[in-house]
Amino acid sequence: MSTSQGPGTAGTHNVLILGAGYAGMAAATQLAARTRQANVRVTVVNAQERFTERLRLHLTATGQRLAEMDIPELLAGTGAQFVRGWVTAVDAHARTVRIDDSRVLHYDTLVYGLGSVTDTATVPGVEEHAYTLDSAGDAEALADRLARLGRGTVVVGGSGLTGVEAAAEIAERHPELDVVLVGRQELGATMNTKARAHLRAALTRLGVQVITGTAVTTVLPDGVELAGAGTLAADVVLWTGGTRVSPLAAAAGLTVDERGRVVTDATLRSVSHPEVYAIGDAAAIRQGYGVLHGTCQSGMPTGVHAAVSIARTLRGKQPRQFRFGYYHTPVSLGRNDAVVQFTRPDDSPRRGCLTGRTAVWYKETVSASPWPTYRRMTTMPSSGAFWPRGGRFTRLRDAR
Ligand SMILES: Cc1cc2nc3c(=O)[nH]c(=O)nc-3n(C[C@H](O)[C@H](O)[C@H](O)COP(=O)(O)OP(=O)(O)OC[C@H]3O[C@@H](n4cnc5c(N)ncnc54)[C@H](O)[C@@H]3O)c2cc1C
Repeated sequence: MSTSQGPGTAGTHNVLILGAGYAGMAAATQLAARTRQANVRVTVVNAQERFTERLRLHLTATGQRLAEMDIPELLAGTGAQFVRGWVTAVDAHARTVRIDDSRVLHYDTLVYGLGSVTDTATVPGVEEHAYTLDSAGDAEALADRLARLGRGTVVVGGSGLTGVEAAAEIAERHPELDVVLVGRQELGATMNTKARAHLRAALTRLGVQVITGTAVTTVLPDGVELAGAGTLAADVVLWTGGTRVSPLAAAAGLTVDERGRVVTDATLRSVSHPEVYAIGDAAAIRQGYGVLHGTCQSGMPTGVHAAVSIARTLRGKQPRQFRFGYYHTPVSLGRNDAVVQFTRPDDSPRRGCLTGRTAVWYKETVSASPWPTYRRMTTMPSSGAFWPRGGRFTRLRDAR
């Protein structure tokens, strides 16, 4: 069946938002609120109706229940339409998007926010034998396996912050299991000495064995092979080593970087297709200090900025330059400990950090804030338009 939403008729401007993750939801709620009186149709396409709290999937993976966050329910009454489906192609020439291979939606302006997923392609065996934390379903499958394991060894591959949070959570919830965290990266590599020491001590207290400076070269059905260090037996492998983005943007002919992310100009429009805005993990957004790396703290502002820019453009104004500076790196270490590294706008560590109960409170407040923020923005869009702009760190000399 082909249900086609035709080109804008009678002056209607169709804005299509692909992906209702942290960035896409910010764009959708902002845009709906800012264009309510205008002749604008906002449509949001996402694979699931339930919002995926990626920041908390390590809780789901250890059997802890998260609140149900229903995207159509939040968008009801805002004017934004929700379409559940899987985007299979973007035709940047015809300005159409194909959903589930059968439906075709037209756009005048596209907001590309399809996020990222764990890179399961680079290391052999990950795809076949490892669990990931990409969706609630993936995390639930891991929770189920861990609950049935009894005794055994869990190897968490990837020693970045996602791996640290997952290893700590699994060790705390399953003291009967041996948890090994293995990866190339030094733990808390971007943190200061105090924060790094706290992170390491917490993992030791929880009984997590840490092997860093070592690459996993292959994931096997019953373990992992390490570069120059033999084989490590494992009953379960969780893979958190890096992310990749959807190939759809590159296939559509949009200019992408070496990782497939849509290259944007200073206002977040695609450098090759200015009717396309790119946001969140799917975008390669350059600031004075470098290209943003995927986080929720930067993703939400990109969604808000794209919405503000579209609303401005529809009023005949020019979009403004996007500026963002990082301000923190909060990391949970189980339910009773955490560490928060405060950062400079370029994400380098400041001297200040929080640890222990205060850090737990801080981290939980941050993780819980997106959904209430989206709800608030549906009626008060200006409430979401504040974030650190990064001062001198984000001044671009060649801003387009
Ligand atoms: C376990 C874990 C913990 C993390 N913790 C932190 C943290 O503490 N702090 C932090 O800042 N960041 C954290 N991150 C990173 C953060 O989650 C991402 O940077 C953020 O989710 C990016 O938001 P986004 O909107 O770009 O993409 P996403 O949140 O990934 O949303 C993309 C959406 O698009 C949908 N989608 C994708 N492809 C298609 C398709 N073809 N068709 C239809 N729908 C599609 C997805 O289902 C999803 O709903 C964590 C990530 C993980 C995995």
